[in-house]
Amino acid sequence: MPDLCDPSFLTPLLERHGFHFSKSKGQNFLIAKWVPERIAAESGVDGRTGVLEIGPGVGCLTAELAKRAGKVLALEIDARLMPVLAETVGNFDNATVLNADVMGADLKALAAEHFRGLSPAVCANLPYNITSPVLTKLIGSGLFATITVMLQREVARRICAAPGTEDYGAFGIFVDFYYRASLLFDVPPDCFDPRPKVTSSVVRLTKRDKPVADVNERLFFQIVRASFNQRRKTLVNALSSGFSGRLEKSEIAGCVSECGLSETVRGEALGIPEFAALTDSIGRALL
Ligand code: SAM
Repeated sequence: MPDLCDPSFLTPLLERHGFHFSKSKGQNFLIAKWVPERIAAESGVDGRTGVLEIGPGVGCLTAELAKRAGKVLALEIDARLMPVLAETVGNFDNATVLNADVMGADLKALAAEHFRGLSPAVCANLPYNITSPVLTKLIGSGLFATITVMLQREVARRICAAPGTEDYGAFGIFVDFYYRASLLFDVPPDCFDPRPKVTSSVVRLTKRDKPVADVNERLFFQIVRASFNQRRKTLVNALSSGFSGRLEKSEIAGCVSECGLSETVRGEALGIPEFAALTDSIGRALL
């Protein structure tokens, strides 16, 4: 099998198919073989796994996954890459490539059709322009035991951030609520063509047996979002804006104090247990 990351193979292959990179589709292809090998190895997928790949590109990660997984289903939005992928990974019996936009895909139906008897997982070098919406969709589906993705280092830091740090925010809390996150390794810009401006990181998310807190999830995330919408404000002021028309500032202050928190605390200092306690308290105040 040729090295799908080797520019001396890749460039003529893409030229032969008249392919040009599209920035709007987040097309930065890997040109360093160790990267897809290591992502696939550290994703932990094996013969019992049905793995969803988003954006196979020319198929370098697809091939590494197909060597290890029970089944690979790869969704590629760019129809121009379909004949390329037929050439590069068409020989794997356990790999299917569909021309589809992950954002419009019915993941539950696809998993039922392609991953029967297998444990569903995700492994992908994500298109950077849609990282957060894709992750939100994957996590929200509740389908995947693990999600191993390469993304911008800055987003990886947000996902893995601890309370009180600059990177800590609503998105990281959303991920942490359902999955345990581990930062696996960094990938420098010179491993890609075209070369991106920023460093990338690979992150593995492992689904928790149950969400980390037993709360009204809708209200919990309303509170988290309101708390970080205006990061510089105190928690009481941020929540007063977020819940204006529903709760008075004095009622919010009462809830904050009921949870043993200072009146001047900011949202970024709170961990999930504190947000959960606040959710219960605000839930009672809203009754
Ligand atoms: N996996 C290849 C690699 O590592 O070299 C390519 C990764 S490249 C960063 C992202 C890929 O996602 C591109 O092939 C792009 O066409 C595809 N893509 C972009 N948006 C997509 C979407 N909404 N659904 C499916 N694929 C998408």
